[in-house]
Amino acid sequence: MKPIVALVGRPNVGKSTLFNRMTKSRNALVDDFPGVTRDRHYADALWDEIPFTVVDTGGFLVSDDDVFAAEIREHVEMAVEEADVVVLVLDGRAGVSPFDQDLVHILRRSDKPVFYLINKIENSRQRDDLAEFFTLGMDKFFPVSAEHGVGVPTFMDALIGVLVDEVLLAPPMDEKEAAENQEICIAVAGRPNVGKSSLINRLFGTKRVVVSEKAGTTRDAIDLTMDKDGKTFRLIDTAGIRRKGKVREKIEKYSILKALKSLDRCDVALILVDASEGVTDQDITIAGYAHDRGCGAVFVLNKWDLLDKEEKNQKMFMEELRMKSKFLSFAPAITVSALTGQRTHKIFSMVESVYDEYNYRINTGLLNRIIENAIYRSEPSLHKGKRLKFFYATQVSVKPPTIVCFVNYPEAVHFSYKRYLINQIREMAELEKTPINLYFREKT
Ligand code: GDP
Ligand code: GDP
Repeated sequence: MKPIVALVGRPNVGKSTLFNRMTKSRNALVDDFPGVTRDRHYADALWDEIPFTVVDTGGFLVSDDDVFAAEIREHVEMAVEEADVVVLVLDGRAGVSPFDQDLVHILRRSDKPVFYLINKIENSRQRDDLAEFFTLGMDKFFPVSAEHGVGVPTFMDALIGVLVDEVLLAPPMDEKEAAENQEICIAVAGRPNVGKSSLINRLFGTKRVVVSEKAGTTRDAIDLTMDKDGKTFRLIDTAGIRRKGKVREKIEKYSILKALKSLDRCDVALILVDASEGVTDQDITIAGYAHDRGCGAVFVLNKWDLLDKEEKNQKMFMEELRMKSKFLSFAPAITVSALTGQRTHKIFSMVESVYDEYNYRINTGLLNRIIENAIYRSEPSLHKGKRLKFFYATQVSVKPPTIVCFVNYPEAVHFSYKRYLINQIREMAELEKTPINLYFREKT
């Protein structure tokens, strides 16, 4: 699980500029998938070979002036709760505002590591002139210029130090957690009102057992488990799901970090879509999150009871979904009604079939034959006049199946060729419902 670093702060202090700088090395990889149109307010980053996820919490803000301050405050509280490390960005040019004081206050109360950045510091004169920030009472801050990169490496080194110490070197899994790992973890993701809580009640209904209130999570973050056909299914429930009315509505808006976290922890995400409203951009955004987290996925097309029973319309809906979510073409889809219970019982077996592939280990001999054959049938084009030489492949992990190929020139493998190889593996190893990761490493 990658640690989450949340950037918080007032608008215009430079959060998104910093976000871009921190995640820049990965930007080229971001839009591999044509047709995915979404704002990207979080991204995976790598520094000193340590992977982590950066979230620009400001990016999720709805900027309606009246609710602004309250909203930012709530965002910060959410971030503190859900992130592993929080970075408060302050504006070195605008100086300290009372609002910053509020934010610092909130952060002080948390037990998460917090970095204080003073941004827009471009020269030494400015650096000498930061006395007023000491009134905030922090013992250490990092002067940076997100725009020009000054001071950012120093900050990143310190950040990595904390990530390694506090997150990645955290105590190993205890027995209970190891047991949990035998379970099939499900997350339910979807925009408000698509029927998430109705479906959860349907699936886990009266049989559900509230199993854990883990330390460090809020009292609302509850997992539910259920045994079915000899398997244990664990539902990662997110706060707010069963809340009603105004409070709930409000919380939904801030639930993005929680959704990301649950997708990070799950084996299979149920991506809920309200079929009566068609496939919306927001549905695709959420599907994109699931894709990015690398989990297995099932499209659950809910409220099918409201749909015109004409076969033609149903077919059209399915085509629209597939067209807009090409990047998740491996995810099976099922039409249900959480209201009437129609077909909802089939979801478990579908999740199980996805999970079996998600957790599959391909025989090494078979894997190498598949790739050798694929290359034999369609050789990659020459790279700077050189021929790609394939040595061998090995599956390094499951959940999802992750394969490393050793070749002479990793950079010679074009994206489309990689996709071709993945498709060959899918077909020959019968892994059609899981994401597959394929990496190339150099062997000389
Ligand atoms: P956000 O609202 O916190 O995400 O802030 P933005 O990243 O959108 O930045 C707000 C404004 O500050 C933009 O005009 C940026 O160009 C500017 N800005 C961001 N970082 C720096 C910096 O390091 N130095 C200077 N001079 N301006 C910056
Ligand atoms: P959530 O916000 O995603 O948790 O959605 P809810 O479960 O609260 O459902 C939102 C509304 O849609 C409620 O009024 C539900 O009764 C209704 N609803 C949920 N599932 C279905 C369904 O399959 N068919 C119909 N007709 N309504 C549904």
